[in-house]
Order: sequence, then C-alpha cells, then structure tokens
Amino acid sequence: MGIIENYKDGTMYYQMEAFNDINFIKHLFTSRIGWSNDNIHDKISNIFNLPKTNIVNLKQVHGTDIIIIDEKVGSLKEISKLEKDGLITNIPNIILTTYHADCVPIYFLDKEKKIVGLAHGGWRGTYNNISGKMVDLMMDTYNSKAKDILVGIGPSIGPCCYEVSMDLGEQFNSRYSRFKDILQYRNDSVYLDLWKMNYLQVKEKGVPQDNITLSETCTYCNEDKLYSYRKEKGTKNRMVAAISIVMDMGD
Ligand SMILES: [Zn+2]
Repeated sequence: MGIIENYKDGTMYYQMEAFNDINFIKHLFTSRIGWSNDNIHDKISNIFNLPKTNIVNLKQVHGTDIIIIDEKVGSLKEISKLEKDGLITNIPNIILTTYHADCVPIYFLDKEKKIVGLAHGGWRGTYNNISGKMVDLMMDTYNSKAKDILVGIGPSIGPCCYEVSMDLGEQFNSRYSRFKDILQYRNDSVYLDLWKMNYLQVKEKGVPQDNITLSETCTYCNEDKLYSYRKEKGTKNRMVAAISIVMDMGD
C-alpha cells in the first residue's frame, strides 16, 4: 500500500492508503494545487469538518521535543507558541499539523489505543531520532504496542535529490553504522536518504515493516505538485501534514 492523490474542490492532497483504512481518523498532506498559505486552515477545516480553532501547530525548530496533548495542557493557541517538532494526542477532534517544504512529515497512529501523532524531521530531527522518540513516547505514555502502530513517511526531499556535505554524511554513517544504505554516492557527491533513516528508526523500535508506508514522493522532483525549499532556493510556501481522531461525540 502506498500514497494516493485526491482531488476535491480544486485542490489536490495526498493520503496514505493504510491510514485511509482506519475509520476513526482523518489525515492528509497538502500540495501546491489549490492551496496557499492564506487558505490552508479554511480548507483543512472544511475537509475535516471541524472548526479552524481545533487546528494546532508548533513553532518548529528542528529539535526532537514532542508535546503530548492531554486534558492537562493549555489552550491550542498556547501550544502553537511552543518550540517543538512533534505532537501526540488521544483526544478526538483536535487536528494536529506540521509544516513542510522538503523536511519529512512522519505520521503515527495506534489503531488499538486510538492515538495519533505527527513529527517534523529534517536532517537534524532525523539525526537525533525524533521518529524513534515518538514511538517511545507512545509506548511510555499510552502503553502502545509496536505491532499496533502504523507509520507514514510522507512527501519530502528524496535520496534522488538530497545532496549533503561529506562531513554530514560521515556524521550519519558513524552514529548509524548499524543502518545500511542510508547514503548514496553519485558523481563525487553524497546523498542522504531521510526516508530510509526514519523507516529504520521506527523499525528498530519494533514497528513491523508492513505497518510502515513509504510515500517515496520527492518534493524536489515534483515541482508541479509540491513546494521544495531547496529547488526553489527558498520559498515561503509550505505543505501541511494534518491528522485527527474524528469521532462523533454524540450527546
Ligand atoms: Zn528527487
């Protein structure tokens, strides 16, 4: 199972098939088709059928701090001021979001305990294993079992295009010498595979490989559909990763 493109009301967004099979969540990854920084919250609110005020984001700082959103934390507005790169919740109808323009969006879902999570992993977050930390936190906080966790590694810059310095490549090689083929060498250059890194980091925590979706969709290669910070030599535009537990609260 992989990733699919959905077209709705003049917009295109990506979804992962494995996540679409779970009936208590909604999720998506926006594209450049029909989305702009001005309308993202309105359109996400429409698609999720939840008010805009239920959307929460973070001040992303390429770290590995993760917030658990439970009854004890403050308002979603306050959370949006925090310098963190991961969110986890079991509260229905809160839309978790992270912003991306090459960095990896990593989606998490515990299908038994009904927990969702999202992480933002550029090379720094990936180097410091934010994905592994997400799995650890789900296990420690909610007693999640690795076999129940689904992970989705969304559109982002791929090993086809993500050239890094020799030094950075060496840093990854030495910290992750147990991982194979995380770097590719072509034409005297080094390319880092952030997809494989995040894949191996969650697999190492026990998440079965069949539970992990690799979207294998490169932002740099698909400039008609996606923004790429590197390809465009800087852009203010971002794609948004979003996931929410959606339950009819009844009365
Ligand atoms: Zn590429």
